[in-house]
Amino acid sequence: MRRIYFDHNATTPLDDQVVEAMFAVCRNEFGNASSVHYYGQRAKTALDAARAAVADLIGADAAEVVFTSGGTEADNLALRGAAAAADAGRRHLVTVGFEHEAVLNTVKSLARAGWETTVLPPDGGGVVSPERVREAITDRTGLVSVMHANNEVGTVQPIAELAAIAHESGALFHSDMVQSAGKIPINVRTLGVDLASFSAHKLYGPKGVGALWVRRGVRLMPVLTGGRQERNRRPGTENVPGNVGFGVAARVAAGRLAEDSVRLIALRDRLEQGVLARVGAIDVNGARDARVPNTSNISFAGVEAESLLIALDLEGFAVSTGSACSSGTLEPSHVLKAMGLSSHRAQSSIRFSLGRGNTEQEVDALLEVLPGVVERLRSLAPAVR
Ligand code: PLP
Repeated sequence: MRRIYFDHNATTPLDDQVVEAMFAVCRNEFGNASSVHYYGQRAKTALDAARAAVADLIGADAAEVVFTSGGTEADNLALRGAAAAADAGRRHLVTVGFEHEAVLNTVKSLARAGWETTVLPPDGGGVVSPERVREAITDRTGLVSVMHANNEVGTVQPIAELAAIAHESGALFHSDMVQSAGKIPINVRTLGVDLASFSAHKLYGPKGVGALWVRRGVRLMPVLTGGRQERNRRPGTENVPGNVGFGVAARVAAGRLAEDSVRLIALRDRLEQGVLARVGAIDVNGARDARVPNTSNISFAGVEAESLLIALDLEGFAVSTGSACSSGTLEPSHVLKAMGLSSHRAQSSIRFSLGRGNTEQEVDALLEVLPGVVERLRSLAPAVR
């Protein structure tokens, strides 16, 4: 049976060059990168090259890149690490209700530990208003955390402006860039952030591998206790194959970012225009002019999104009802709820996230199947409309 993958914001397949590089490391570079002998130094050389490649993708210095076990750990290290190092008079944090759970649940945990927290709503288009952030910040604010691109609707936030506002009152600014890295150009310096989180498996690298970029001079306490790896910021024997895979994925992404984004915008627009032309009573969620190239989130009125996801899966198409971590529950997406969408609309929303391997033929195949599937589901559940 034909299988088509439209869920690249959940995870991406490994790039062939990544697989080859990881395989070679697994085979040839078993050394501990902290060992001083020949084997250790070979592993360290591979690790250094990976660190430099990740730094290049984001406009940073290699020495500022801390490898982690993924985006979740990078978010935890950023928020908990900065919180632990913050002055006693600056225990207030500002974030947004549409962040990934890796940020939101860490913020909740900080609140339980005595931090004052402000969770702002984005606007109806899934964009954070700089004015709202300015109003929320006080002279007690130590940290502001706003994601670069949202994982469910793909909207890109005005990070440079938000970071400047945080800095005006002396707060640090963290951004979860897990969904923007490899999709749009990133320069952490021109964006002016202090901390930024990344994950390899969203850009055709391995799962369980990520990084936190820490601007030189930012005070950060490690979250884990152990050895002195990663310049005392993240203990544990380095994951050399994983980090090398991340480095190759970053290098490949940097090389093809411009070309990929033109292609993906065209494919995404073909999909969206096609759905708009063929299916009635639908809405595109999130500001259409402020999105990463590959993401489209669409509500199908009168259709239960989980049923649509399953029906499409049976036809060979992999899509998502929102963040993979919360699927399996019938809770409406917290992102769409934060944007002010009704529960009905949130529960009838599907995320299509395209990737490098997708073709026009695959989009057209979806457009052939989708109208009939939606019609069938609507006829089965007319009461929900
Ligand atoms: N942040 C965002 C915006 C994400 O989309 C994800 C993954 O779904 C994460 C963080 C977590 O990254 P990881 O899966 O590497 O822990």
